[in-house]
Amino acid sequence: MYLEGGCLIDVLKSHGSDYPEDPDIISKRTTDSCSQSSSGSWMLIEEARDSAVTGAKQVLERGLMQYGCAHYRRRCRIRAPCCNEIFDCRHCHNDAKNSINVKGNHRHDLPRQQVQQVICSLCGTEQEVQQICVSCGVCMGKFFCDTCKLFDDDTSKEQYHCNGCGICRIGGQENFFHCCKCGCCYSILLKNCHPCVEGAMHHDCPVCFEFLFESTDDISVLPCGHTIHMNCLKEMQQHLQYACPLCSKSVCDMSKVWEKLDVEIAATPMPESYHNKMVSLLFFLSHALTDCYKYSVFRST
Ligand SMILES: [Zn+2]
Ligand SMILES: [Zn+2]
Ligand SMILES: [Zn+2]
Ligand SMILES: [Zn+2]
Ligand SMILES: [Zn+2]
Ligand SMILES: [Zn+2]
Ligand SMILES: [Zn+2]
Ligand SMILES: [Zn+2]
Repeated sequence: MYLEGGCLIDVLKSHGSDYPEDPDIISKRTTDSCSQSSSGSWMLIEEARDSAVTGAKQVLERGLMQYGCAHYRRRCRIRAPCCNEIFDCRHCHNDAKNSINVKGNHRHDLPRQQVQQVICSLCGTEQEVQQICVSCGVCMGKFFCDTCKLFDDDTSKEQYHCNGCGICRIGGQENFFHCCKCGCCYSILLKNCHPCVEGAMHHDCPVCFEFLFESTDDISVLPCGHTIHMNCLKEMQQHLQYACPLCSKSVCDMSKVWEKLDVEIAATPMPESYHNKMVSLLFFLSHALTDCYKYSVFRST
């Protein structure tokens, strides 16, 4: 990010109404505001530096948060290296190039790290990827990642680049850790207490088939270690599906359900003729409720 460090902020703070009420300085300031200051030679060196810094900041911040698309606030557009067309961002490209209006073999995603050219939204200059426009000097993205070619003025997302993932993520670096085995950044709440599954995030969501590693939606880690979109999991539960679609283990604590089933089963003994026989209900249980081993054993005795 530009403007890092306290130096500039301190300089700006000491400017204006917070000026120390030292009569000597006040008199100098009064002098500054007189006509002599137009020559420049009367200005205090410090003030000249201050106004230069303020001026530079104003140039950098022109149009901040005023440009962009539905996905990012940014002050540039990108030239897609794949089809050589200009888009606001890679998501805009991907939405356009994967729509039903595009023939199947022409559909594609933009390889984000291969973007080479950007177009400044303020002056329209096309240039190599960089944070500051070579032509008008505006900052094209307050957050800028040279690896991902990512520009974003909305730093409240707390973007950070994870070297392990090789891409930028949001949510603040201090709130996440990179699990090498799962191959992804997880919330620090899961540190040392999640079941590691090799490449857990490098597969499609088992419900909607979006590639989870690059998904921008919230993702849940199930007790089995498999991963799924938070919303897709909620949808599953609304349809009374409580098993991981990948390994059939429970996605939540089922002990209460098992207790209830134990009581119900105990209360409805099988007729004599069905003793020691398996019924299709077993299949249903093993399929939908996962802890099937318990019930297989229970029912077969
Ligand atoms: Zn393309
Ligand atoms: Zn976009
Ligand atoms: Zn420009
Ligand atoms: Zn990045
Ligand atoms: Zn990571
Ligand atoms: Zn892990
Ligand atoms: Zn999903
Ligand atoms: Zn699973």
